[in-house]
Amino acid sequence: MGNEMSNNGMVISESSTPLPAGVHLPIYMDNHATTPLDPRVLEAMLPYFGAKFGNAASRNHSFGWEAEQAVDKAREQIAKLIGATAKEIIFTSGATESDNLALKGIAEMYRERGNHIITQVTEHKAILDTCKRLAKQGFRVTYLPVKADGLIDIEDLKQAMDDKTILVSIMFANNEIGVVQPIAEIGRLCHEKGVIFHTDAVQAVGKVPVDVEAMNIDVLSLSGHKIYGPKGVGALYVRRRNPRVQISAQIDGGGHERGMRSGTLNVPGIVGLGKACKLCGEEMEAEGKREAELRDYLKAKFEGALDYIHVNGSMEHHLPGNLNMSFVHVEGESLLMGINDIAVSSGSACTSATLEPSYVLKALGLGDDVAHSSIRFGLGRFNTKAEVDYVSDKVIDVVSKLRELSPLYEMAK
Ligand SMILES: *Cc1c(COP(=O)(O)O)cnc(C)c1O
Repeated sequence: MGNEMSNNGMVISESSTPLPAGVHLPIYMDNHATTPLDPRVLEAMLPYFGAKFGNAASRNHSFGWEAEQAVDKAREQIAKLIGATAKEIIFTSGATESDNLALKGIAEMYRERGNHIITQVTEHKAILDTCKRLAKQGFRVTYLPVKADGLIDIEDLKQAMDDKTILVSIMFANNEIGVVQPIAEIGRLCHEKGVIFHTDAVQAVGKVPVDVEAMNIDVLSLSGHKIYGPKGVGALYVRRRNPRVQISAQIDGGGHERGMRSGTLNVPGIVGLGKACKLCGEEMEAEGKREAELRDYLKAKFEGALDYIHVNGSMEHHLPGNLNMSFVHVEGESLLMGINDIAVSSGSACTSATLEPSYVLKALGLGDDVAHSSIRFGLGRFNTKAEVDYVSDKVIDVVSKLRELSPLYEMAK
């Protein structure tokens, strides 16, 4: 992909959008894909790459104790952010592993009790692909639909439950459209029916209040790199009482993490994850308010300048930093090429060689064209108002130019 793009012969040149002071290109606005490491997190981690290199499982010397202490502190920091206790935190290599461990570990452990699992269609692939595998192994999986606003209907969940249901897995907040599911209601229902409730809370933890007690969450996945921590480290919260949830290990060897996940602990990563959680706990409220303001400002600028645009997903139940917007009558690929100095995600997913429309947007009822012409803006801790101004001006400019060339847009008008 070059620096300039052509559409029907017309060249849309390098931006005519002025670059405000303090803005550097490219601009990163894709914080649901990953987040930059917070410098304070890096600082906390560095000693554990150096002199503090001990193995947290070494019980006979100070190197091991030092590492174990650091891990215990991180466990406390993570637990505190979600209303859990330190003993309920199991470290993993990230949320993909946490999701796999939760679903496969529960399915295996409770197989005698039943073989039915309930999830929903807009889950992350770490859940959907795991369910697919479990279905091959004889589990029955129900995929709840979502409404046009991206939320599940609690009535559908009630209807789907039967006496063979052992597990409900519904994500807390969606990574594409940012909608926040009715987690407390789902938790209450599962608790009443004695069904284990797992939630993939990767996008919610540290962004909105999460409380495993108040929300009756039994098992929860989280990841370091979505909350300004390091990549390759995550955690699984596993409830110890009311009820005590058991999980079959999927990795054997050494019996670390209460026997649920063997392997030498990634001490620097865990220290970073702990610090990231601590910072989120302290700053979440102010940060959420700031991001929501920037997001609403971005949305208002689009709505003031463009017609035939709409937001995807309920704005009422929404992550503060997310805006997923469709720019109808614009060719998706041209739009993305036109804004290639801005890092955002599109409503297209590259699967093998073809460009497939996002299954999440399709689940809301969007057609392929509209899905392709959708953009996810993921605002984060380090985005500024000046960046939002640049991004909105640039997108408005490119969309307007592309529409001048679009017969579909002319016809619609
Ligand atoms: C990023 C993400 C994951 C995967 O987490 P990793 O730590 O990258 O494996 C799972 N679920 C959701 C909702 C995510 O956004």
